[in-house]
Amino acid sequence: MSNILEVKDLKVSYGAIQAIKGISFHIKQGEMVALIGANGAGKTTTLKTLAGMLKPAGGDIVYMGKQLSSIKNYDLIREGLALVPEGRGIFGRLTVTENLEMGAYSRTDSKEAIQADIDRMFEIFPRLKERASQLAGTMSGGEQQMLAISRALMGKPKLLLLDEPSMGLAPIIVQKIFETIREVAKDGVTLLLVEQNAKLALQTCQRAYVMDGGKITLEGDAKELLHDEAVQKAYLGE
Ligand code: ATP
Repeated sequence: MSNILEVKDLKVSYGAIQAIKGISFHIKQGEMVALIGANGAGKTTTLKTLAGMLKPAGGDIVYMGKQLSSIKNYDLIREGLALVPEGRGIFGRLTVTENLEMGAYSRTDSKEAIQADIDRMFEIFPRLKERASQLAGTMSGGEQQMLAISRALMGKPKLLLLDEPSMGLAPIIVQKIFETIREVAKDGVTLLLVEQNAKLALQTCQRAYVMDGGKITLEGDAKELLHDEAVQKAYLGE
């Protein structure tokens, strides 16, 4: 399988603060890869840079064989790169259905195809179907997270970047969301998952990178990392 994403020696700074200090990693087509690490390690900064929201101070990002810097931000969705940000970023004053329609704005296929995908999202998340005409901003945190993921999927992404999908949610909702993430991956979407819940991330993904202080300190097979003593001590609370 070829790489959908290749990152080499990436550096990102906020003014004088260097948040990412030269990281290299790759994601193969169809893989589920986790990025774990302590607070402030630089995980969100990495995702924001991949989504074009932050400009690198150095290094190289190649997405589907193209320099990311050569793709305009507004073209990223059309190119199949979607981010579900921490805090979700849905349109609170629009209904659930309107949010899903917005997610499809860059598509050029038929209305029927888009409607079929909305129906598919309602099938995956019956809760969203029940609340189709509710204003998104009035839904619970878990419902908003389901909507944020569904909205991103409506754009038919090739690479989905997920920032902390479990944040602030009850365990049962987290289970449901991770079930869906696994299902989505079966549909052929490649996933980069940033998670505070390292155990769940390692159980869900095939490979993982561990970040600390703006660097990648460990990488490998997710199941092996799950049993790695250093990882267990530092990130799994065991
Ligand atoms: P968490 O798990 O707590 O969300 P993280 O691994 O996602 O952490 P980042 O949010 O990427 O970490 O932050 C990396 C570093 O960059 C931190 O030291 C943080 O304080 C700093 N940082 C993040 N955003 C900004 C900003 N807008 N201005 C200045 N520094 C920032």
